[in-house]
Amino acid sequence: MPAGRYAPSPSGELHLGNLRTAMLAWLFARSTGRRFLLRFEDLDLERTVPGAEEQQAEDLRAMGVSFDDQDGAGLIRQSERMDRYAAAIAELTQNGMTYECFCSRREIREATRAPHAPTGVYPGTCRNLSEDQRALRRAQRPAALRLRAPRSGAGVAEEFSAEDVLLGRITTAVDDFVIRRNDGAPAYNLAVVVDDQLTAVDQVVRGDDLASSTPNQAYLRGLLYGAEAAAQVQYAHVPLVLNTEGKRLAKRDGAVTRAALKDQGVDAEALRDLLLVSLGLPAGPLDRALRSFDPQALPSEPWVFQPP
Ligand code: GLU
Repeated sequence: MPAGRYAPSPSGELHLGNLRTAMLAWLFARSTGRRFLLRFEDLDLERTVPGAEEQQAEDLRAMGVSFDDQDGAGLIRQSERMDRYAAAIAELTQNGMTYECFCSRREIREATRAPHAPTGVYPGTCRNLSEDQRALRRAQRPAALRLRAPRSGAGVAEEFSAEDVLLGRITTAVDDFVIRRNDGAPAYNLAVVVDDQLTAVDQVVRGDDLASSTPNQAYLRGLLYGAEAAAQVQYAHVPLVLNTEGKRLAKRDGAVTRAALKDQGVDAEALRDLLLVSLGLPAGPLDRALRSFDPQALPSEPWVFQPP
């Protein structure tokens, strides 16, 4: 059975912007008869905080967000799925779809500023290195692995589109994005695509800050699993919650987590209701909001939150 998902990084407590996105993802999934999965994106070990998973799951449940079991395996943890990412990376590499990249961030920044550099994508510095050049660079620095995305004869990146329920068609140039970082960890874009496909996720609901990575991910999904699998995925990128300065809400903005709000006298039910009302939905249990959930009636503007 197809599924939707919420995929937080267990790097600390969720704030109410995260909780709101998770509630929306749940509403989208349940209103379309899908299962709903919780996937912890814990590949960045330095950012993973012990105990954050349990806390995040508990906060989500307190909002009424329930999860299904993935084949009896419980919650999905990316760090336990390394073999799957390695297999996908090996397949792409065997098919000549990857290349090693030795660029530092600074080198990329500088190459991007050069005249005639392609805009919005990796400038292609390492795309056509000779074996000798690669050997030389390998001795200096570990390589990341990039996708060899389609480019025209003139080196212009090709565009790819994905359809979004809320934003319409999202089109960007497909980048030679990193699929394995230079510390050996699978990169975000690769892991998301592999996990979504292998756990039957065909509905991706997340914050609209991730909209621009969608054509890259949709392209990769087609490459790994066929155009038909890629075409079946429904995307919905939802507006974020902003602070009073108009910036994306963050934990430093004050009392914005369930625990901090509780200290201010806002309990879980009041928080859930606040979030539902911000979405134009009736206060009360999430199951009840489900009955009147209509994606097209959602506010299209971000919601500005003022902590108590
Ligand atoms: N882990 C990502 C985040 O916390 C979300 C990834 C996704 O939904 O594709 O922002």
